[in-house]
Amino acid sequence: MSHVLAAVAWPYANGPRHIGHVSGFGVPSDVFSRYMRMAGHDVLMVSGTDEHGTPIQVQADKEGVTPRELADRYNRVIVEDLHGLGLSYDLFTRTTTGNHYAVVQELFEGLHRNGYIVPKVTMGAISPSTGRTLPDRYIEGTCPICGYDSARGDQCDNCGNQLDPIDLINPRSKINGETPRFVETEHFFLDLPAFAQALGKWLDSREGWRPNVLRFSKNLLDDLQPRAITRDLEWGVPIPLEGWRDRTDKRIYVWFDAVIGYLSASIEWARRSGDPEAWRKWWSEEPVRAYYFMGKDNIVFHSVIWPALLLGYSGEGDRGGEPGRLGRLNLPTEVVSSEFLTMEGRKFSSSRQVVIYVRDFLERYDADALRYFIAVAGPESQDTDFTWAEFLRRNNDELVAGWGNLVNRSISMAAKNFGAIPPAGELTAEDQALLETSRKAFAGVGSLLEKHRQKQAIGEAMRVVGEANKYLSDQAPWKMKDDPERMGTVLHVALQAVSDCNTLLTPFLPHSAQKVHELLGGAGVHAPMPSIVQVEDLDGGPSYPILTGDYTAGARWESVPIEAGRALAPPKPVFRKLDPSIVDEELARLDPGE
Ligand SMILES: [Zn+2]
Repeated sequence: MSHVLAAVAWPYANGPRHIGHVSGFGVPSDVFSRYMRMAGHDVLMVSGTDEHGTPIQVQADKEGVTPRELADRYNRVIVEDLHGLGLSYDLFTRTTTGNHYAVVQELFEGLHRNGYIVPKVTMGAISPSTGRTLPDRYIEGTCPICGYDSARGDQCDNCGNQLDPIDLINPRSKINGETPRFVETEHFFLDLPAFAQALGKWLDSREGWRPNVLRFSKNLLDDLQPRAITRDLEWGVPIPLEGWRDRTDKRIYVWFDAVIGYLSASIEWARRSGDPEAWRKWWSEEPVRAYYFMGKDNIVFHSVIWPALLLGYSGEGDRGGEPGRLGRLNLPTEVVSSEFLTMEGRKFSSSRQVVIYVRDFLERYDADALRYFIAVAGPESQDTDFTWAEFLRRNNDELVAGWGNLVNRSISMAAKNFGAIPPAGELTAEDQALLETSRKAFAGVGSLLEKHRQKQAIGEAMRVVGEANKYLSDQAPWKMKDDPERMGTVLHVALQAVSDCNTLLTPFLPHSAQKVHELLGGAGVHAPMPSIVQVEDLDGGPSYPILTGDYTAGARWESVPIEAGRALAPPKPVFRKLDPSIVDEELARLDPGE
């Protein structure tokens, strides 16, 4: 048993999430956490919505609402979507809480004290006609990297690179089109070169990472530059230093505050649990395993910047120092990065309607149908295309015709002929072989899940489903009307395999796993589910919804002998077969007019 931190990337709260967002790390981190809990580990799974920064401010300006109002709206939408998918967060919170502000400022101060945050004079934009500071979001121009002609002052939405307004070619004010004047202004920088040795040592000691992630991360160390962590912006966490605290025109940069969310959410969880120090079991004590889940565009923040913040705060960067008030903090064990999902051969794009939102998906299909698709065909280690034809095929041919059929025919045959789980008589070699296969699968599937090889893991579990289906077809218990004892034995063996397969599939398909558990006559919680709870801000701010749950109950990762005599009711189908017409319907929705 060990303490396992599952730190999941924070969705940005400027709109609803599409299935590409949840395929790379949302669902996979839940599969991992569910498995680790079933295997007896003490898991803390945290995340929340990322709510600061220019894009939210810009969109709020456009809609005539405050950034907080906009963030409130999408925080709720995202919480509901993740709940619908059954993602078992211990805490899914947000970055606009009093707790988060305090933890971000504590890290900033600790890093500053240890000399890793340094002031630097840079060129900031002012409006020539008014003489006032021009915030980043009001400046646009051509991206110096990709040539996109409406890149923002802090980021290019086309290539995703972070920018400085002065880097833009032909910068202009979005307010009146004038060319900004650049004057000297002071900002704070994270001194990344002062972590080169400590980061190199840490990366050299990593084992079991996906090779491309480790290689990419090590390459980043060759060119470490000081990185700005404050901006000319009013929406964000105030800079906690004398002379800066009360300024309303400068804020901590959104990426700096968002990565600290893993720590602040853990602390918030502990404060809400009644033991405010409980977070330390996942952050200060050893041995702890800490896994960070994200898309590949976010690797740098998790394999370089976040570890640098942790090292610097702990006084373990190349310049030394003392740990701050929170003490020494653990570095990630592994950065688990996924690749991208595309949609019918194209990049997801909300503006071009190449998109399917989680909410719309869940209105028409079951959560486990999507979870199954993500597990067998998601972007685990290479870019992957989502097509409706493939979704239909996976759902109908594999989930319904494979697993659903095994559940349905074995339970209904037993219910009809015995009304209960029949006892097993003497076992043949075939009976024993199937029981052995399903029992042995726990070690194999479990070790793949532990190594984040979920595609292979579900493949193994579905292979056992296939063997059980073959066993039933070969034995043909429906032909054994005059040998009820043998028929009972075959069905007993088949139901034991169903029970085992159901446990093996529980991390992937928690909603249907609970139903199958009940069809087998089981009572109580088999696969625990998260709930949405409206809570008060612990430090006096407005209330907000969180995702949380008690995941201590539920199945363990082991084969549990089924009980002969337990009553069975005729089953209802667990999975829905989809009509092939959905493919055309969905394509029409996706791309009207084409
Ligand atoms: Zn660009």
